[in-house]
Amino acid sequence: MRLILLGPPGAGKGTQAQRLVEKHGIPQLSTGDMLRAAVAAQTEVGKRAKAVMDAGELVSDEIVNAIVAERIDQADAANGFILDGYPRTLAQADAVGSMLNDRGVELDAVVELVVDDKALVGRILKRAEDARAAGQPVRKDDNAEVFDERLREYYKKTAPLIGYYYAKGKLVGVDGMATIDDVTKEIDGVLVKLS
Ligand code: AMP
Repeated sequence: MRLILLGPPGAGKGTQAQRLVEKHGIPQLSTGDMLRAAVAAQTEVGKRAKAVMDAGELVSDEIVNAIVAERIDQADAANGFILDGYPRTLAQADAVGSMLNDRGVELDAVVELVVDDKALVGRILKRAEDARAAGQPVRKDDNAEVFDERLREYYKKTAPLIGYYYAKGKLVGVDGMATIDDVTKEIDGVLVKLS
């Protein structure tokens, strides 16, 4: 199964992706996680991405497409994967389309988590608070100021993917305002219909 989880920051993509990993035994490919690992390891990519990420802007398509192209060829992704936070631009959507085409595999669905904008910033602030309380590092972009820029980037560059995948017959909307368990159930229902 090859899935894309689409939605604004704070929509719950990471949470739902983890549940799908447990249930289906395929990896979550989060470009945000991969980029944060590159920043922490101070690789060339990490050095180029850090300031852009801290400002809530999008890292270049070139960098992100290269990371994903390499990642999907790893053995654990052979039977499928969940893309979380990628693609985020039309150029990335075209790139992943070509990657899959070149490998002779198809995208099963794009699950859009539909969430009221007003709920998003609260979720991001809660994530920061929970990390702090657990003694974990707090993401530099999980604060109200940077969140505004992340949401702007989402509307400018990522939201057009909704129409892009709708036109391809791949888009499925899920109510992301429901409880975490109910969102999981709705996604499961979508996947059952696909199989
Ligand atoms: P995320 O963990 O998905 O919220 O991503 C955190 C940050 O990483 C984003 O605000 C971007 O700066 C960068 N990033 C993650 N995925 C992408 C992507 N597909 N394209 C460009 N930038 C990305």
